[in-house]
Amino acid sequence: MTRQEKVYDLVVLGGGPAGLTAAIYAARSLLSVLVVEQMLSGGQIATTEKVENYPGFPKGVGGMELGQLLEEQARNFGAEMVLSTIERVVATGDIKEIHTSEGIFRGRTLIVATGTRSRPLGVPGELELKGRGVSYCVTCDGSFFRDRTVMVVGGGDSALEEALVLTRFAAKVYIVHRRDELRATRILQERVKNNPKIELILNTVVKKINGRQAVDSVTLEDLAQNKQWDIEVDGIFLYVGMVPNTEFLNDGVLRNEYGYLVTDEGMATNLPGVFAAGDVREKGLRQVVTAVADGAVAAVSAVRYLDEITHREGNQ
Ligand code: NAP
Repeated sequence: MTRQEKVYDLVVLGGGPAGLTAAIYAARSLLSVLVVEQMLSGGQIATTEKVENYPGFPKGVGGMELGQLLEEQARNFGAEMVLSTIERVVATGDIKEIHTSEGIFRGRTLIVATGTRSRPLGVPGELELKGRGVSYCVTCDGSFFRDRTVMVVGGGDSALEEALVLTRFAAKVYIVHRRDELRATRILQERVKNNPKIELILNTVVKKINGRQAVDSVTLEDLAQNKQWDIEVDGIFLYVGMVPNTEFLNDGVLRNEYGYLVTDEGMATNLPGVFAAGDVREKGLRQVVTAVADGAVAAVSAVRYLDEITHREGNQ
């Protein structure tokens, strides 16, 4: 039977830490499990050089390596993986249908663990110069800026962490943040303030990214003094937050005002048999450690849901 003909006990959307942990727990409970991933196992952490705050790795662990280990562990328990782009999901019926670039997959339960993606800044020049100096990924593009001047936009953990990585390549790194206070954790703030290659520009927003063939400068506006000026840079990395990947889901699934999926403690959404785990879910702390915890809880909830259905069917 092909994957497209089979009805899996569980289909997991997304092969990041949440999705792969769900697959580990569900496959270990002997469910048939298919994980649909569109890029790389590990999800966002695969583009993070080092994960420093995941317990059990006192020296940190490479993001790509952690992703591969999670995938190996899921496969060892029998989970199947497929690489394809999710186009549309119909999650309302007893059998959930996942329409993808590789055909339709079906599951009796569904765990949505599709995470988030970078939010665009929405300024002139951003789209036009994307890939020619405008980037959303230091791990992917940082090494192109050896001995150059670059700018990072944002004041959260991602912006500061990636600015620090950039100092290994670049001669100078500006961090531009719209408020006078950074959002990132204290330890990152300390490291940034102590790094001689980094210059913080606070209370300032990006108005425009300039360049013809490639980025050559950025127009900034100082919000306190209401003045604009240009800074010459060779590249600009945008880390102004994330948006959840939920567009492909049918309308009936409850989302909050920002599009994050709303679940209960058991990771259940409002639709029977549909669970959510990791960054895509409305929650207070988006970390690998909370993503894997969500994945485990969601898988156990899916197992219980299937048990209840089997029990009910047996009593009919
Ligand atoms: P974030 O925490 O939402 O920070 C986004 C930053 O961009 C904020 O400083 C925000 O400013 C700024 N911003 C948003 N819209 C903007 C706009 N239009 N113009 C200018 N600036 C704008 O996002 P993140 O840093 O990507 O982190 C996402 C999640 O992953 C967080 O929960 C974070 O803790 C977690 N994370 C953790 C680690 C780690 O633990 N090592 C590493 C990376 C990410 P304001 O501060 O003014 O809102």
